[in-house]
Amino acid sequence: MLLNHAQGMVFRPPSEANSFILRITLGCSHNACTFCAMYRGIQFRTRPLEEIRCIVENAAQRSPDIRRVFLGDGNALVLPTKKLLSILAGLREAFPKLTRVTCYGGPKDILRKTPEELKALKEAGLKIIYLGVESGDDEVLAGINKGVGAAEMVAAGRKVLAAGIKLSVMVILGLGGKTGSYRHATGTARVISHISPTMLSTLTLTLYDGTTLKEAADRGDFLPLTPYETMVELKELICHIRVANPCIFRSDHISNLLPLAGVLNRDRDKMLQEIHEILDFLKDKHNG
Ligand code: SF4
Repeated sequence: MLLNHAQGMVFRPPSEANSFILRITLGCSHNACTFCAMYRGIQFRTRPLEEIRCIVENAAQRSPDIRRVFLGDGNALVLPTKKLLSILAGLREAFPKLTRVTCYGGPKDILRKTPEELKALKEAGLKIIYLGVESGDDEVLAGINKGVGAAEMVAAGRKVLAAGIKLSVMVILGLGGKTGSYRHATGTARVISHISPTMLSTLTLTLYDGTTLKEAADRGDFLPLTPYETMVELKELICHIRVANPCIFRSDHISNLLPLAGVLNRDRDKMLQEIHEILDFLKDKHNG
């Protein structure tokens, strides 16, 4: 019986490169962000527990020493907590060396869960939730159809941390275009400062065919940033972040021009120096 009839490409954060990707849902139940092409062609569905159990059993027979599992796809937390707890229990049983389970979490799904539910998930082995904040500016968030505003994003992030689960936040440089760049950078810095996530990473906007944002750019209604402007935006973002706890910062995604790494607030000046160096390098090209 063919049980692993998944469809579409598999997406996961760069830090999950060595994890077993267990797709407990297929696609994204929101699937409406104007920049996102990840699950466009996939009809969202949740996988029955029996199907998930068979995949885990097969994986355990082939690779019993698996230590890390990433629960796909776009927003695994959309599943009821009872089902998630059952999946986590099955993983612990199948993989005795399991050290961590992680997943993407949508802000609305996080807010729908009670603090007790999140704590139960943490106790069951869910160690990191990846939250696509994308922007901290309400206008940008509404423009990209994220489905929540900055205040809800802050509440969702803080709720994860309050449950003892590590929070890795992604933001996207360039989402505000030329007109909203400063607002996007400073609003995002404000939201990051309020959340104070465990980890923060930046991606740079890529316009994919078939997305609403690409169509807007083709019409001239959305003006994408140049590499120089993107670096200015990154500078403003880093400059304005004031986190309450050490936050590991990475810009190691392939979309980024400059791979930065450090701990905020500690390494702010060092990273700003690196950004200034690349700005100097790009300046002539930009002005020319
Ligand atoms: S919530 Fe994430 S996966 Fe879903 S459409 Fe938006 S960016 Fe894409």
